[in-house]
Amino acid sequence: MKKLYAVIGDPIGHSMSPAMHNDLFQHYKIDAHYHALHVKSEQLEDAIKGLKAIGISGFNVTIPHKVKIISLLDRVDSLALSIGAVNTVVNEDGQLVGYNTDGSGYLTGIRNELSSLEDKKVLIIGAGGAARAIYFSMADAGIKQIDLTNRTVNKALSLIHDCPYAVQSEALELNETEKQLIEYDIVIQTTSIGMSPERDYIPLSLHNLKTNAFVSDIIYNPLETLFLQNAKEKGASIQNGISMFVHQGALAFQKWTGILPDLDRMKNIVLKQLGGNIC
Ligand code: NAP
Repeated sequence: MKKLYAVIGDPIGHSMSPAMHNDLFQHYKIDAHYHALHVKSEQLEDAIKGLKAIGISGFNVTIPHKVKIISLLDRVDSLALSIGAVNTVVNEDGQLVGYNTDGSGYLTGIRNELSSLEDKKVLIIGAGGAARAIYFSMADAGIKQIDLTNRTVNKALSLIHDCPYAVQSEALELNETEKQLIEYDIVIQTTSIGMSPERDYIPLSLHNLKTNAFVSDIIYNPLETLFLQNAKEKGASIQNGISMFVHQGALAFQKWTGILPDLDRMKNIVLKQLGGNIC
């Protein structure tokens, strides 16, 4: 019988995950289909019971359900629990088990670009859900120094306080960060600033950026934010948000099927989807 996979969220019409995963199922000759399911917050509990009852094989979880779903699952792995968010659920012998592949997806993507991370000084801009997943995953991976800067600096302080892994971190004001930017080897932009249609904004000035720094922005629409353009002009190597998106999807696909899929294939599907959407 055809296996069933899905992504649940509200809104969900924009999701690129169905195209990406359905292409992979076809490519690897797996008899399965991946649906986008519009689930409103007040329906979440019933939706999870329903998905379990019909024996769904696995699903992704997106905004606004990543936190609330935790209490509705049978089990949640320790990294996802400490992050406090689940984006991937696997049906393991009838039990719905939650994982977070956002942070590990980001980490896998950056490891493909840089040979060693552990000795690098990292700055994360932002302290929202994505920053939390990336920060905890990098700390769990043994990266020693990761500072955080955010408009609301108290949120950065909370992230540092909540992190269960050993890591040296400071929470900085944005203007303070601009002055000491030269200290960082890796700068990760995780706020929504610069996302289409508000493309003309950056979270902080890159005037003092180290010449050979590595700068990534997890936004993928536009593919090159103003922040990344500025970083490139300063001589930095850059990475856009496609990497994180594709790698989190690949890790979810691997958890469901045991296959680590072809990343170039996934990237091409996403770029094709974005083709009509980069405004
Ligand atoms: P979130 O939890 O709502 O966090 C938003 C962050 O942006 C916070 O740090 C917030 O600062 C900051 N921010 C928003 N508007 C701002 C403004 N006008 N000035 C200064 N700071 C501002 O969102 P999220 O889930 O972390 O997502 C953040 C971005 O990452 C979105 O663009 C999302 O599309 C992208 N994303 C990409 C991927 C991927 O796979 N590539 C995955 C997840 C998310 P405050 O704390 O001060 O409000």
